[in-house]
Amino acid sequence: MKSILVTGGAGFIGSHLSLALAETKAKIYCVDNFFSCAEKNKEYLSKVNNIEIINHDICNPIDLKVDEIYNLACPASPIHYQKDPVKTVQTNVVGTFNMLELAKKNSAKIFQASTSEVYGSPTVHPQTEDYWGNVNPVGVRSCYDEGKRCAETLFFDYHRQFNLEIKVMRIFNTYGPYMSLNDGRVVSNFIIQALKNENITINGDGTQTRSFCYVDDLVSGIIKFMDTNNKVTGPLNFGNPHEVMIKDLAEFIIMLTGSKSKVQFQPMPQDDPERRKPDISKTKNLVNWTPTTELKDGLLKTIDYFSSIIS
Ligand code: NAD
Ligand code: UDP
Repeated sequence: MKSILVTGGAGFIGSHLSLALAETKAKIYCVDNFFSCAEKNKEYLSKVNNIEIINHDICNPIDLKVDEIYNLACPASPIHYQKDPVKTVQTNVVGTFNMLELAKKNSAKIFQASTSEVYGSPTVHPQTEDYWGNVNPVGVRSCYDEGKRCAETLFFDYHRQFNLEIKVMRIFNTYGPYMSLNDGRVVSNFIIQALKNENITINGDGTQTRSFCYVDDLVSGIIKFMDTNNKVTGPLNFGNPHEVMIKDLAEFIIMLTGSKSKVQFQPMPQDDPERRKPDISKTKNLVNWTPTTELKDGLLKTIDYFSSIIS
């Protein structure tokens, strides 16, 4: 039986990925230190026989016999990755090093959940993979941005130096069920606020943009990417190119939930990127992947999920 390790496997994307991979009947090890995942995700995962949850911090080595590794461990929401920034760097650098060593020992294929944040506050729009980015190395977001950039460097050095089979994916803003109630990212915040008829907290004037991908689309992309031949290493952009202003997202969620919420403007956090939109032409060519879920449909599914867990 194939054995697969998913680090960050109890997190938002990790739990969707683990559940999808478990359908192939492989043995799935979900390794997580439960730093930023929703408690409920452990319940969903533990109901599946071929999933084993292991409470472990990837900053410490782990010895498992595995054929594939998906490295997703790292808090992804700015409020979580900035809570303990030194730990965020460690997870991305020491943790990634440990996972690459494990892949080398097992001759396993290894996937890295990289991010559009490697482009920082981009001066090229939409972002293509050959753009090197505009990243502040000493700001409050650097622990995440530079940590993820260093993780990419490690991946490509292991590939060149040890011939490791790698897949590096630059994920753009992804949303959906299984995000934690206290995740703090924009889609879950706005939906929870709307469902509770509380003020919708818009940072800055809300004219900054993001492009939102529904989680099912992303997970099917991860699995397709992992199945490509070993010449396809990435880095490849995965995301939905539909770009929206944050203030429009707020109004859309108020409308979809029928909420009485009003918008409330608050100060813009440091180094918050102004625009973000993936160019996915290379991904379409090499992986034959394109997202299919419209923003409205994905938001409605996410609203249903949060309605069911908010009492
Ligand atoms: P998440 O915070 O829900 O999941 C991350 C998981 O990693 C959590 O369960 C957390 O407890 C675990 N974790 C953190 N540090 C760990 C450590 N040292 N050892 C073991 N487990 C650890 O975030 P997510 O949205 O599911 O993101 C998953 C991955 O995808 C992350 O690597 C993130 O950087 C990347 N990513 C996500 C997005 C997005 O929009 N969701 C965008 C770009 C990149
Ligand atoms: N944002 C906001 N209100 C919130 C949370 C986030 O206006 O309650 C903004 C945030 O400042 C950013 C955008 O929404 O401009 C996306 O933020 P998120 O934290 O979801 O992801 P990231 O900034 O990492 O793309």
